[in-house]
Amino acid sequence: MKKIYITTPIYYVNDIPHVGHAYTTVAADVLARFHRILGDNTFFVTGTDEHGAKVAESAKKRGLKPKAFCDEVAPNFVEAWKKLNISYDYFIRTTDPEHEKIVTDFLITLYEKGDIYKGKYEGLYCVGCEKFLTEVDLVDGLCPFHRKEPTKQSEENYFFRLSNYIETLIKAISDPKDPNHYKIRPDSRFNEVLSKLRLGVGDISISRAEVTWGIPIPWDESQTIYVWFDALLNYYSAPIINHRPDLWPADLQLMAKDILWFHAVIWPAMLIAAGIRPPKEVFAHGFFTIEGEKMSKTIGNVILPEQLVEKFGTDGTRYLLLSEFPFGSDGDISIDRFIKRYNSDLANGLGNLIQRVAALAEKANLTVPAPAENPILDLPYRVALDELSFSEALAYIWKKISDADKKIEESKPWELIKKDPEKADAVLDNLIRQIREIVELLLPFMPETAEKLQEKFRGPKIKAGVPLFPRIS
Ligand SMILES: [Zn+2]
Repeated sequence: MKKIYITTPIYYVNDIPHVGHAYTTVAADVLARFHRILGDNTFFVTGTDEHGAKVAESAKKRGLKPKAFCDEVAPNFVEAWKKLNISYDYFIRTTDPEHEKIVTDFLITLYEKGDIYKGKYEGLYCVGCEKFLTEVDLVDGLCPFHRKEPTKQSEENYFFRLSNYIETLIKAISDPKDPNHYKIRPDSRFNEVLSKLRLGVGDISISRAEVTWGIPIPWDESQTIYVWFDALLNYYSAPIINHRPDLWPADLQLMAKDILWFHAVIWPAMLIAAGIRPPKEVFAHGFFTIEGEKMSKTIGNVILPEQLVEKFGTDGTRYLLLSEFPFGSDGDISIDRFIKRYNSDLANGLGNLIQRVAALAEKANLTVPAPAENPILDLPYRVALDELSFSEALAYIWKKISDADKKIEESKPWELIKKDPEKADAVLDNLIRQIREIVELLLPFMPETAEKLQEKFRGPKIKAGVPLFPRIS
């Protein structure tokens, strides 16, 4: 049995779950469901990142202890994922004592190997990012993600000897035969990481003296572990906490491109330093803008998953998020375009086909055979999903929908029902088989809809029923 362990990033617990989080998480969910259908031993993890200065700050504002604050807000993500029908196997929280213990042990391993040392760090720190930025990272002197000027900070920190691992990393990403080999996708991101590595990379600070809300450095409790170092280890601790250490290495780690460096460089280096295999693949998807603008609280254009679910339903939202543009690219979304696409693809395309065929089958009083036991997922669809080309996989399904529509137009079964009932039955029987195929392919993307349709077209008699996707405006 093939094993597949898929992760999303763990999200900052004090964030409100927004459409960006939903995008990565829905994509991971589609893959997890796809692999379960294939019969693979699938493990899908998401969760929340709960340490660091920002969380402590938010907790203080609310007059709560950090942990109490985390307990209060972590369910926001759980609820959001429920609304989007996310089928994770485990939801990890970095304040879980088991995770904290794994992080502590991991750190001691690196310390004892001499990969951690004490040094003085001076740099430009962005509170929003919770990290020191380099001049190269800045745009017009500002953090490109928070559009804020970073502050100069200096402190005694513990450092991880990242620079020792640069050659190892270059070899690991470039040579498929390397024992530590891992893939970085898409290719453009691989090239970016490779050229940045070749320029040389310094050691990185992995502790904070000022931040108290974090896991203490085991041999020096005046410092806490850098939130990123702690957060990255969630991927490794989740299987251990679940008594399934055999799931490591992760097969696929998904994230937005702004955190690729952490996942494609720092994370594998940490693992290799500890003698642990890096994940097999990291995949960075693009950013999206909302009607041409970066999504931000200041502009007030943040889209929340529940707003989408309210308007388009769970499966409508899942469809719209993944059909709009290729997963690895940047793209733009707008509610108006979502409405148009919903009406054309779901109300008209899929919904209309289902309604027409079901109504005709009811009219013809058709007796349909039981569906096949083992669904066949065709090759082009499987290839598209292996490549994480969600929009292509969906386009492939929608081609089948329009083919079926054409078939109806050509054969005019509504006329055949009177003129040649036998032929009408044959045409409809064929259409129902086509719909069943479409439904199988829809399962990972639109699980609720697909299950309803499996039920509807199971036979022996089909009823027209109500439209699945009423038009919206
Ligand atoms: Zn920032």
